[in-house]
Amino acid sequence: MTDDPRDLLRSYLRQRAELGEAELVLDRLSAAELQALLAEQKTAPAPRLVPPSDARREPAADPRRESAPDPRRESSPNPRRESGPPAEGPEKVEVHVRGGAPVPGTVPHPPSPRAPAAYVSAEEISSLPILADVREIALGCPRCGLARTRTHVVFGEGRENADVMVVGEAPGQDEDRSGRPFVGRAGRLLDLVLMSAGFPREDVYICNVLKCRPPQNRNPQPDEVSACSPYLLKQIELVQPRVILAFGTFAAQTLLGTDVSIGKLRGRTHQYQGVPLVPTYHPAACLRHPAWVRSVWEDVQRARDVLDAS
Ligand code: SF4
Repeated sequence: MTDDPRDLLRSYLRQRAELGEAELVLDRLSAAELQALLAEQKTAPAPRLVPPSDARREPAADPRRESAPDPRRESSPNPRRESGPPAEGPEKVEVHVRGGAPVPGTVPHPPSPRAPAAYVSAEEISSLPILADVREIALGCPRCGLARTRTHVVFGEGRENADVMVVGEAPGQDEDRSGRPFVGRAGRLLDLVLMSAGFPREDVYICNVLKCRPPQNRNPQPDEVSACSPYLLKQIELVQPRVILAFGTFAAQTLLGTDVSIGKLRGRTHQYQGVPLVPTYHPAACLRHPAWVRSVWEDVQRARDVLDAS
Protein backbone atom coordinates (compact mmCIF):
# COMPACT_ATOMS: atom_id res chain seq x y z
CA MET A 1 0.00 0.00 0.00
CA THR A 2 1.34 3.43 -0.85
CA ASP A 3 0.19 6.99 -1.10
CA ASP A 4 2.94 8.06 -3.47
CA PRO A 5 1.15 9.46 -6.57
CA ARG A 6 3.82 7.91 -8.80
CA ASP A 7 3.28 4.46 -7.36
CA LEU A 8 -0.44 4.90 -7.54
CA LEU A 9 -0.34 5.88 -11.17
CA ARG A 10 2.09 3.11 -12.08
CA SER A 11 -0.03 0.56 -10.28
CA TYR A 12 -3.21 1.82 -11.85
CA LEU A 13 -1.82 1.90 -15.37
CA ARG A 14 -0.38 -1.57 -14.96
CA GLN A 15 -3.69 -2.92 -13.76
CA ARG A 16 -5.61 -1.24 -16.53
CA ALA A 17 -3.12 -2.53 -19.10
CA GLU A 18 -3.57 -6.05 -17.73
CA LEU A 19 -7.27 -5.56 -18.27
CA GLY A 20 -6.69 -4.37 -21.82
CA GLU A 21 -7.75 -0.80 -21.05
CA ALA A 22 -4.43 0.99 -20.98
CA GLU A 23 -5.87 3.87 -23.00
CA LEU A 24 -8.21 4.76 -20.18
CA VAL A 25 -6.13 7.43 -18.55
CA LEU A 26 -3.75 8.10 -21.37
CA ASP A 27 -6.40 9.49 -23.70
CA ARG A 28 -5.65 12.99 -22.45
CA LEU A 29 -2.26 12.50 -20.89
CA SER A 30 0.77 13.23 -23.01
CA ALA A 31 4.10 11.48 -22.52
CA ALA A 32 5.56 14.71 -21.19
CA GLU A 33 2.72 15.09 -18.70
CA LEU A 34 3.17 11.50 -17.60
CA GLN A 35 6.90 12.00 -17.09
CA ALA A 36 6.25 15.19 -15.20
CA LEU A 37 3.76 13.38 -13.03
CA LEU A 38 6.09 10.50 -12.30
CA ALA A 39 8.83 12.97 -11.42
CA GLU A 40 6.66 14.65 -8.80
CA GLN A 41 7.94 14.60 -5.25
CA LYS A 42 6.10 12.30 -2.91
CA THR A 43 4.89 15.24 -0.88
CA ALA A 44 3.66 17.19 -3.87
CA PRO A 45 -0.03 17.95 -4.23
CA ALA A 46 -2.18 15.52 -6.16
CA PRO A 47 -1.28 15.78 -9.85
CA ARG A 48 -3.41 17.54 -12.38
CA LEU A 49 -3.54 15.67 -15.65
CA VAL A 50 -5.18 18.28 -17.85
CA PRO A 51 -3.70 21.57 -19.02
CA PRO A 52 -4.07 24.29 -16.40
CA SER A 53 -6.18 26.39 -18.70
CA ASP A 54 -9.35 26.26 -16.71
CA ALA A 55 -10.69 29.24 -14.86
CA ARG A 56 -11.77 27.47 -11.70
CA ARG A 57 -12.10 29.70 -8.72
CA GLU A 58 -9.36 29.21 -6.18
CA PRO A 59 -10.77 27.44 -3.15
CA ALA A 60 -10.46 29.30 0.10
CA ALA A 61 -8.91 27.87 3.21
CA ASP A 62 -11.27 25.38 4.77
CA PRO A 63 -11.30 25.58 8.54
CA ARG A 64 -14.19 23.20 9.11
CA ARG A 65 -13.88 20.09 7.00
CA GLU A 66 -15.47 16.81 7.99
CA SER A 67 -13.24 13.95 8.86
CA ALA A 68 -12.73 10.48 10.29
CA PRO A 69 -13.79 8.87 13.54
CA ASP A 70 -12.50 5.63 14.93
CA PRO A 71 -13.93 2.33 13.76
CA ARG A 72 -16.24 0.63 16.27
CA ARG A 73 -17.70 -2.62 15.07
CA GLU A 74 -17.84 -5.09 12.22
CA SER A 75 -20.79 -5.07 9.90
CA SER A 76 -22.16 -7.82 7.76
CA PRO A 77 -20.55 -8.73 4.42
CA ASN A 78 -21.03 -6.32 1.59
CA PRO A 79 -22.52 -7.85 -1.52
CA ARG A 80 -22.83 -4.72 -3.57
CA ARG A 81 -21.00 -1.55 -2.62
CA GLU A 82 -17.44 -0.40 -2.01
CA SER A 83 -16.82 -2.31 1.19
CA GLY A 84 -15.98 -5.98 1.03
CA PRO A 85 -15.94 -8.25 -1.97
CA PRO A 86 -18.27 -7.77 -4.92
CA ALA A 87 -21.52 -9.67 -4.84
CA GLU A 88 -20.68 -11.89 -7.74
CA GLY A 89 -17.62 -13.22 -9.50
CA PRO A 90 -13.96 -12.75 -8.68
CA GLU A 91 -12.45 -9.40 -7.84
CA LYS A 92 -11.43 -8.02 -11.20
CA VAL A 93 -9.98 -4.66 -10.32
CA GLU A 94 -7.53 -3.98 -7.53
CA VAL A 95 -6.82 -0.39 -6.66
CA HIS A 96 -4.00 0.28 -4.23
CA VAL A 97 -4.30 3.93 -3.45
CA ARG A 98 -4.25 5.83 -0.21
CA GLY A 99 -5.61 2.86 1.71
CA GLY A 100 -8.41 4.84 3.29
CA ALA A 101 -6.05 7.30 4.90
CA PRO A 102 -7.57 10.63 5.88
CA VAL A 103 -7.71 13.23 3.15
CA PRO A 104 -4.80 15.64 3.57
CA GLY A 105 -5.86 18.73 5.40
CA THR A 106 -8.86 17.23 7.11
CA VAL A 107 -9.33 17.15 10.83
CA PRO A 108 -10.34 14.04 12.76
CA HIS A 109 -13.97 13.13 13.24
CA PRO A 110 -15.30 12.71 16.74
CA PRO A 111 -13.79 9.46 18.04
CA SER A 112 -17.02 7.70 18.86
CA PRO A 113 -20.39 7.17 17.21
CA ARG A 114 -23.26 9.12 18.66
CA ALA A 115 -26.53 7.83 19.94
CA PRO A 116 -29.58 9.12 18.06
CA ALA A 117 -30.62 12.51 19.36
CA ALA A 118 -33.84 14.48 19.14
CA TYR A 119 -35.84 14.54 15.93
CA VAL A 120 -35.18 17.61 13.77
CA SER A 121 -37.66 18.48 11.05
CA ALA A 122 -36.84 18.99 7.39
CA GLU A 123 -37.82 22.64 7.78
CA GLU A 124 -35.37 23.12 10.61
CA ILE A 125 -32.60 21.42 8.63
CA SER A 126 -33.41 23.61 5.66
CA SER A 127 -33.02 26.74 7.78
CA LEU A 128 -29.54 25.90 9.08
CA PRO A 129 -27.01 28.49 7.95
CA ILE A 130 -23.73 26.57 7.76
CA LEU A 131 -22.55 23.03 7.01
CA ALA A 132 -21.16 22.55 10.49
CA ASP A 133 -24.65 22.99 11.92
CA VAL A 134 -26.15 20.57 9.41
CA ARG A 135 -23.47 18.04 10.18
CA GLU A 136 -23.99 18.43 13.90
CA ILE A 137 -27.68 17.64 13.54
CA ALA A 138 -27.03 14.76 11.13
CA LEU A 139 -24.55 13.04 13.44
CA GLY A 140 -27.37 12.38 15.90
CA CYS A 141 -30.13 11.95 13.34
CA PRO A 142 -33.02 9.62 14.22
CA ARG A 143 -35.12 10.47 11.16
CA CYS A 144 -35.28 6.92 9.77
CA GLY A 145 -34.76 3.34 10.89
CA LEU A 146 -31.13 3.28 9.78
CA ALA A 147 -30.31 5.19 12.95
CA ARG A 148 -30.76 1.90 14.82
CA THR A 149 -28.26 -0.09 12.76
CA ARG A 150 -25.53 2.38 11.80
CA THR A 151 -22.16 2.67 13.46
CA HIS A 152 -21.39 6.16 12.23
CA VAL A 153 -23.32 8.76 10.33
CA VAL A 154 -21.32 9.46 7.18
CA PHE A 155 -22.22 13.06 6.62
CA GLY A 156 -19.67 13.93 3.94
CA GLU A 157 -16.37 15.71 3.67
CA GLY A 158 -14.36 17.99 1.48
CA ARG A 159 -13.97 21.59 0.51
CA GLU A 160 -17.00 23.52 1.61
CA ASN A 161 -16.89 25.84 -1.40
CA ALA A 162 -15.93 23.13 -3.88
CA ASP A 163 -16.59 23.58 -7.57
CA VAL A 164 -17.24 19.86 -7.87
CA MET A 165 -19.63 17.93 -5.68
CA VAL A 166 -19.63 14.14 -5.73
CA VAL A 167 -22.85 12.47 -4.64
CA GLY A 168 -22.92 8.72 -4.10
CA GLU A 169 -25.55 6.34 -2.85
CA ALA A 170 -24.98 5.35 0.79
CA PRO A 171 -22.18 4.30 3.11
CA GLY A 172 -20.82 0.78 2.84
CA GLN A 173 -19.10 -1.26 5.50
CA ASP A 174 -15.83 0.66 5.47
CA GLU A 175 -17.63 3.98 5.48
CA ASP A 176 -19.92 2.92 8.31
CA ARG A 177 -16.88 1.97 10.37
CA SER A 178 -14.82 5.04 9.55
CA GLY A 179 -17.48 7.73 9.24
CA ARG A 180 -15.98 8.87 5.94
CA PRO A 181 -17.43 8.54 2.44
CA PHE A 182 -15.78 6.46 -0.28
CA VAL A 183 -12.88 4.98 1.67
CA GLY A 184 -13.04 1.40 0.40
CA ARG A 185 -11.74 0.01 -2.88
CA ALA A 186 -14.44 1.84 -4.79
CA GLY A 187 -13.36 5.02 -3.08
CA ARG A 188 -9.81 4.52 -4.20
CA LEU A 189 -10.99 4.01 -7.74
CA LEU A 190 -13.05 7.17 -7.38
CA ASP A 191 -9.94 9.05 -6.24
CA LEU A 192 -8.04 7.95 -9.35
CA VAL A 193 -10.80 8.83 -11.77
CA LEU A 194 -11.29 12.22 -10.17
CA MET A 195 -7.56 12.83 -10.17
CA SER A 196 -7.34 11.99 -13.87
CA ALA A 197 -9.69 14.88 -14.58
CA GLY A 198 -7.78 17.31 -12.38
CA PHE A 199 -10.09 16.92 -9.39
CA PRO A 200 -7.92 15.97 -6.42
CA ARG A 201 -10.09 14.59 -3.67
CA GLU A 202 -9.20 17.39 -1.32
CA ASP A 203 -10.66 19.90 -3.78
CA VAL A 204 -14.09 18.33 -4.09
CA TYR A 205 -16.97 17.82 -1.69
CA ILE A 206 -18.08 14.21 -1.33
CA CYS A 207 -21.28 12.91 0.21
CA ASN A 208 -24.04 10.36 -0.28
CA VAL A 209 -27.80 10.38 -0.66
CA LEU A 210 -28.10 8.36 2.55
CA LYS A 211 -25.89 9.24 5.47
CA CYS A 212 -26.29 5.87 7.20
CA ARG A 213 -25.51 2.40 5.92
CA PRO A 214 -28.46 0.20 4.95
CA PRO A 215 -28.10 -3.24 6.57
CA GLN A 216 -26.37 -5.74 4.29
CA ASN A 217 -25.91 -2.85 1.86
CA ARG A 218 -29.40 -3.35 0.54
CA ASN A 219 -30.88 -0.72 -1.71
CA PRO A 220 -32.06 2.49 -0.05
CA GLN A 221 -35.79 2.46 0.64
CA PRO A 222 -37.98 5.34 -0.55
CA ASP A 223 -38.84 6.39 3.01
CA GLU A 224 -35.14 6.48 3.90
CA VAL A 225 -34.29 8.58 0.86
CA SER A 226 -37.14 10.93 1.69
CA ALA A 227 -36.08 11.20 5.34
CA CYS A 228 -32.44 11.85 4.47
CA SER A 229 -32.92 14.18 1.49
CA PRO A 230 -33.04 17.38 3.55
CA TYR A 231 -29.40 16.88 4.45
CA LEU A 232 -28.29 16.39 0.86
CA LEU A 233 -30.35 19.29 -0.43
CA LYS A 234 -28.88 21.54 2.24
CA GLN A 235 -25.35 20.37 1.46
CA ILE A 236 -25.81 21.27 -2.20
CA GLU A 237 -27.35 24.61 -1.28
CA LEU A 238 -24.46 25.53 1.02
CA VAL A 239 -21.56 24.18 -1.04
CA GLN A 240 -22.95 25.76 -4.22
CA PRO A 241 -21.01 23.52 -6.60
CA ARG A 242 -20.56 24.46 -10.23
CA VAL A 243 -21.00 20.86 -11.30
CA ILE A 244 -22.42 17.80 -9.58
CA LEU A 245 -21.17 14.28 -10.31
CA ALA A 246 -23.88 11.78 -9.38
CA PHE A 247 -22.41 8.32 -8.96
CA GLY A 248 -24.88 5.48 -9.24
CA THR A 249 -28.55 4.96 -9.84
CA PHE A 250 -29.86 6.33 -6.57
CA ALA A 251 -27.85 9.51 -6.61
CA ALA A 252 -28.83 10.30 -10.19
CA GLN A 253 -32.47 9.34 -9.80
CA THR A 254 -32.87 11.16 -6.49
CA LEU A 255 -31.41 14.42 -7.74
CA LEU A 256 -33.09 14.28 -11.14
CA GLY A 257 -36.44 13.08 -9.82
CA THR A 258 -36.68 10.23 -12.31
CA ASP A 259 -36.75 6.46 -12.40
CA VAL A 260 -34.79 6.27 -15.66
CA SER A 261 -31.87 3.85 -15.41
CA ILE A 262 -28.37 5.13 -14.92
CA GLY A 263 -27.37 3.49 -18.19
CA LYS A 264 -29.74 5.82 -19.99
CA LEU A 265 -29.06 8.88 -17.87
CA ARG A 266 -25.30 8.83 -18.21
CA GLY A 267 -23.47 10.19 -21.24
CA ARG A 268 -24.97 13.67 -21.13
CA THR A 269 -25.23 16.64 -18.83
CA HIS A 270 -28.45 17.23 -16.90
CA GLN A 271 -29.48 20.08 -14.64
CA TYR A 272 -30.23 20.11 -10.93
CA GLN A 273 -31.80 23.45 -10.04
CA GLY A 274 -29.58 25.21 -12.53
CA VAL A 275 -26.43 23.30 -11.62
CA PRO A 276 -24.99 21.01 -14.30
CA LEU A 277 -25.29 17.42 -13.17
CA VAL A 278 -23.31 14.60 -14.75
CA PRO A 279 -24.58 11.10 -13.87
CA THR A 280 -22.39 8.04 -14.12
CA TYR A 281 -21.96 4.52 -12.80
CA HIS A 282 -21.05 3.96 -9.17
CA PRO A 283 -17.37 3.05 -8.69
CA ALA A 284 -18.43 -0.09 -6.84
CA ALA A 285 -20.27 -1.22 -9.95
CA CYS A 286 -17.05 -0.70 -11.89
CA LEU A 287 -15.27 -3.13 -9.60
CA ARG A 288 -17.68 -5.77 -10.84
CA HIS A 289 -17.81 -4.49 -14.40
CA PRO A 290 -14.35 -3.12 -15.29
CA ALA A 291 -15.50 -2.17 -18.78
CA TRP A 292 -17.64 0.53 -17.17
CA VAL A 293 -14.58 2.33 -15.85
CA ARG A 294 -14.09 3.91 -19.23
CA SER A 295 -17.64 5.28 -19.18
CA VAL A 296 -17.06 6.71 -15.73
CA TRP A 297 -13.84 8.27 -16.87
CA GLU A 298 -15.57 9.82 -19.88
CA ASP A 299 -18.33 11.18 -17.66
CA VAL A 300 -15.86 12.71 -15.22
CA GLN A 301 -14.05 14.28 -18.18
CA ARG A 302 -17.44 15.66 -19.21
CA ALA A 303 -17.73 17.28 -15.80
CA ARG A 304 -14.26 18.72 -16.32
CA ASP A 305 -15.34 20.17 -19.64
CA VAL A 306 -18.51 21.60 -18.11
CA LEU A 307 -16.47 23.26 -15.41
CA ASP A 308 -13.91 24.61 -17.84
CA ALA A 309 -16.65 26.08 -20.04
CA SER A 310 -18.50 27.78 -17.18
S1 SF4 B 1 -30.08 7.72 6.82
FE1 SF4 B 1 -30.34 9.92 6.97
S2 SF4 B 1 -32.44 10.21 7.73
FE2 SF4 B 1 -31.85 8.07 8.17
S3 SF4 B 1 -31.04 8.16 10.26
FE3 SF4 B 1 -29.29 8.36 8.83
S4 SF4 B 1 -28.98 10.59 8.63
FE4 SF4 B 1 -31.05 10.27 9.49
